[in-house]
Amino acid sequence: MKIVIIGAGVAGLSLGWRLAQAGAEVTILERGQPGSGATNASAGMIAVTAELLDAHAVEIEFSRHSNALWPEFAEAVEAGSDRMIGYSRSGALLVASDAAALARLARRGGEAGLEMLDAGQARARAPLVTGPLAGALWSPKEAKVDARALSAALTLAFQRAGGRLLANEAVVRIERRGGRAAIAHTPFGLYHADVFVLAAGAWSGLIEAGLAPITPVKGEMIALAPPKGEKKAIGKLLGPVIWGNGVYAVPRGNNLLIGATVENAGFDTALTDAARDGLRAKAEILMPSLKDWSLVDHWAGLRPRSPDGLPLLGPTALDGLWLAGGQFRNGILFAPAIAESLSAQLMGKAAPIPAFDPRRLRSDGQKK
Ligand SMILES: Cc1cc2nc3c(=O)[nH]c(=O)nc-3n(C[C@H](O)[C@H](O)[C@H](O)COP(=O)(O)OP(=O)(O)OC[C@H]3O[C@@H](n4cnc5c(N)ncnc54)[C@H](O)[C@@H]3O)c2cc1C
Repeated sequence: MKIVIIGAGVAGLSLGWRLAQAGAEVTILERGQPGSGATNASAGMIAVTAELLDAHAVEIEFSRHSNALWPEFAEAVEAGSDRMIGYSRSGALLVASDAAALARLARRGGEAGLEMLDAGQARARAPLVTGPLAGALWSPKEAKVDARALSAALTLAFQRAGGRLLANEAVVRIERRGGRAAIAHTPFGLYHADVFVLAAGAWSGLIEAGLAPITPVKGEMIALAPPKGEKKAIGKLLGPVIWGNGVYAVPRGNNLLIGATVENAGFDTALTDAARDGLRAKAEILMPSLKDWSLVDHWAGLRPRSPDGLPLLGPTALDGLWLAGGQFRNGILFAPAIAESLSAQLMGKAAPIPAFDPRRLRSDGQKK
């Protein structure tokens, strides 16, 4: 089977890699460079609890399944690329600064069967948290990965499995022939395939507005580095992901990533002083010693959101056109399960998950 995937983010690369391994002839057309969309902008959290406390039951189940696939997936990506991707099951600490927040967390944690920590136990796990602290929820199964290393490794693994990746090749339209998707057009060429998978993240709707009702949600993040010579501070970075009130902190290398804003701003990715200062201020309430750390990076990305907030995984109403999108804040977490589910569907071995089937929505994005 000849498959063209549009977009080399974590979704397109993971799916392409699994399909190439299964013997399909796969080409990925990427507008810029692999990972250059939301994937490289992400914090790399595999936030199976923190991001999903209020999620739809099917999404929680999918997340747990994907989280369970992650260790083997990470190992296979590293083996297939000879690159490290920084996967670690470091756990996450969801911090409550007062009694009311603690009660909320305890209720949620109880439902998920998770352990509550008192302030002393929480600080032992995350010594940087010296701000107001009533207690914390400990989620041991949360993990993280270096998202930029992941996209580079997936690119290599995909190519080594026999996949063809064409960078700087933007799809401008998909031509129909005989009522089905037939040819992807770029400024430089025409690409024929049996099946096209639209995995262009937040930009998918620009290619097929009615069939891919996906909109961008802007997120800004910053990275902080400890004062020079502060070896102790770097040691403290080895701990878990930390979630506070409207802010999270993710250790990556020698830096601490602080995220993230959530804003409907169209396709604008301009960096703002307000986001930079706001993120820093929230992080410093939780971890006051960060006031001595320096700002080393600031970036923005666009998350792909569907009208009902659930992923869009499967065939569309147009024969030959499939979607891998709408993962919103969880595209890194979902990657192994998306690759598994969609490759099985494309090989005729599985049906779409009804709650994620793109055909559940009408062309105006409303539920049928
Ligand atoms: C600040 C921020 C923090 C985040 N943190 C996390 C996190 O910690 N954990 C998590 O699970 N998720 C996180 N996310 C969400 C996650 O990044 C996304 O859900 C995920 O990366 C989406 O992957 P994707 O492959 O669908 O899209 P993308 O990574 O955006 O990839 C789409 C690709 O398609 C390409 N493309 C676009 N148009 C075309 C075209 N016309 N032709 C060809 N190619 C095209 C783009 O250049 C891009 O490379 C975060 C997102 C942001 C913005």
